[in-house]
This record gives sequence, C-alpha cells and structure tokens, in this order.
Amino acid sequence: MNTPRKLVMIPGPVEVSPRVREAFSVAPPGHLSPEVIEAFGTSLSLMRRVWLAGPSAQPFVVPGSGTTAMEMTVANLIEPGDAVLVVNTGYFSDRMVEMLKRAGADVVDLTAVPGEVPNASRAAGAFDDFARAGRPVKALFATHVDTSTGALCDPKPLAALARDRGALSIFDGVCATAAERFEMDAWGADVYLTASQKAIGLPAGLALAVVSERALAARDARRQPPPLSHDWHAWRPVMEAYEARKGAYFATPPTTLILALAAGLQEILNSGMEARFALHERGARAMRAAWTALGLRPVPAREAQAAHTLSALRFPGGVDATLVARVAERGVSVAGGLHPAFRGEYFRVGHMGYALTRVDYLMRCVSAVAGGIASFGVPVDEAAAIHAMLSSLQAEVAT
Ligand code: PMP
Repeated sequence: MNTPRKLVMIPGPVEVSPRVREAFSVAPPGHLSPEVIEAFGTSLSLMRRVWLAGPSAQPFVVPGSGTTAMEMTVANLIEPGDAVLVVNTGYFSDRMVEMLKRAGADVVDLTAVPGEVPNASRAAGAFDDFARAGRPVKALFATHVDTSTGALCDPKPLAALARDRGALSIFDGVCATAAERFEMDAWGADVYLTASQKAIGLPAGLALAVVSERALAARDARRQPPPLSHDWHAWRPVMEAYEARKGAYFATPPTTLILALAAGLQEILNSGMEARFALHERGARAMRAAWTALGLRPVPAREAQAAHTLSALRFPGGVDATLVARVAERGVSVAGGLHPAFRGEYFRVGHMGYALTRVDYLMRCVSAVAGGIASFGVPVDEAAAIHAMLSSLQAEVAT
C-alpha cells in the first residue's frame, strides 16, 4: 500500500518550489554540458548576491552536505596549535568544536544555556585572555541559527570583534543562509557556509560556502595542505572556470542539483534579499502567534534570540515525544528534539523558503500540531490558532 506523502515541515530538508523541482527533474546531464556550465556559472555569481558578499569573495559549490562545508572550512583554515573561539549555541556548535579539536586546535568553547546565545562580551574576554598570554587567535566560529534549539545569534558584532582582533570569523549558516539577515561584505565576515536543503530550497547534496580573500590567504599560508578533496586550492580553479563559462573538472558535481541551484537562487533574488528576510520574519511571527494560541512555549526565552527559520517548542503538560508521530499521522512531518540535554522535552517545526509562500501548508501544519496535542486529551483551540496565524499574516501584509 502506498503511504501518501507527508508535508515536510522539519527544519530541513524542506518543501521545494515547483520551479526548483522542474529544474532537477531531468535526465542527468554531463558536468561539461552547456546547460550545466551556464547554471554553474550563474549560481556562483548569484551566491555572492544572496550572501551579500563583495566581488573578491570566492563562492564554492561542492558535493556534500552542511557537515562537509563545515569540515572543509576547518580543513583549510585550522592547523595544530591554532587558538580558536567557538560561540556555542548547541548541537551544531558542539559538532564544530569536535572538528576543531580533531584538527588539533586549542579551542575555547563559550557555552550557554540551551536556547540562549553567549554574550559577545564573553568572546571579547576570551580574546583578551589570549592576548595577555601573547597568543594570536586564528578564528572565531559561530552558528547563525542552531537548529537544535532555534537560537539565533547576531553575527554582526562577532564579525566586527574578530576583525578588530585580527582573527577570521566563520559562520555556520546551514539553517539560516538566504533566510536570516547576513551581510557578508558589510559585516566583514570571512566564511559563511550552508547546505542546499534548507533555506536555499533544494534537495540535500550540495555544500556551499562563500570565502573572503583573507580566509583564502590563510589557506595559502598553511604549513601543510589539507586533504585533497577538501582543498580550496583544488576547487577554486574549477569555480573560476565555471564562472567564466568554461567547463572544468576536479571531482564530479551532482549536475541535476547544479541546475536546481541556479533556479533556486534566481527565485530567491527575484524578490530581493530584503524581501527574503522580511518573508521569514513575517512567517516566523505568524507561526509564533499560532503556537502561543495553542499554549506552546518556545525554547529560546528571548524573542530577539529566536530563529525565523524554525520553531523549537517545549511539550506542554500532558504531552510527550510521541507528539511527532501523532502529527505525522495527520499528514505533516515535524522533527523531535535534538539537543542532548533536553531532547525529550521539545519538538521542532521548520518554516523556511517555499513553504512560507504557501498559506495552505502553514495551515495544514498548525492544524496537524493542534490535532496531535488534542489526541493526548489536552484541550487546544485549533480554530483560534489558525485565526491567530492568519491575522498575523494579514496584519503584516496590510502594514
Ligand atoms: N549546521 C547546522 C546549523 C545544521 O542545522 C545542520 C543540519 N541540520 C548542519 C550543520 C549539518 O548539515 P548536514 O546535515 O547537511 O550535514
């Protein structure tokens, strides 16, 4: 028996737009075919615009996932003994710490209560400590949106701090890029990395990053080269060739995803980045209005530190982790908790990209969550939640 496809409202992979779907639903072309060369070249120039990066920043598109993009950055920048800071907001910052330690870095890990973001002044203090010891800090790492807690960090002061102290700043934008405001050039950030399956709006399979000249220079200055498949030096000539509309080869790219990338980035840019950020802010506010009406409390305690790409919501009294399966029975996939400290106490709903342009998807999602909670015998007012969401969306449109 065929199970009907569920609406995918997890924090990635996400629902993709018809245009993106059409772009990848073709017989796979060769990597040197004219349509792939054109799509690859277009994608690289469009990435600079979505990242709000300067002309000298180098975009990289390689096969892999967000974890690949993280590992590649560490492999190119970090050598044994390098001092680094991590502004840690949860599960994915912990992953970055692990990668940095394996690369032999001396890591200062600034942690916070789940759902909160360490204050930038703590990072400044850590820089001071290293300065007193006469040691330069190579880089500061932060996760723009930690998908395990829904915590949103503000990269701007962190990038400024790193610049001021002569360090590189690296931001994991896997659950943020193309949705949360990020101004790579204006803020002076050095690496902003992501994957294809979240706010970029594609299936999984591409690791994406834009890298500053300073970061490329740090790779040039390494004593030992990184593993070949991660080496920016190996990939950069390929990116330059495609951007000049010439074919090139280092390792085979997933060609159908390259076609989809050009379509997806173009779609994002059709309305412009300001409109794109506003779409996510508006969507998040509407979803929050629905959650409040259902009596759900978000994990991030402060609204200014709550992501616009997902909601991380604590289970109300009388509800447990089987809620996720109960919501699935109602036709919608949402995600369970991920942060090891309180995994069993909350669930997560993704709201990014194409889904935010589909009020019917948002209504189905709120309705399925309301139905799931009601199935525990906990009284909820589904109609009020839908009404709150729609009113919020309409109020935003009217202003
Ligand atoms: N960083 C963040 C913030 C993420 O949300 C994820 C994926 N959920 C990753 C890194 C890892 O990406 P991937 O699963 O594509 O390897």
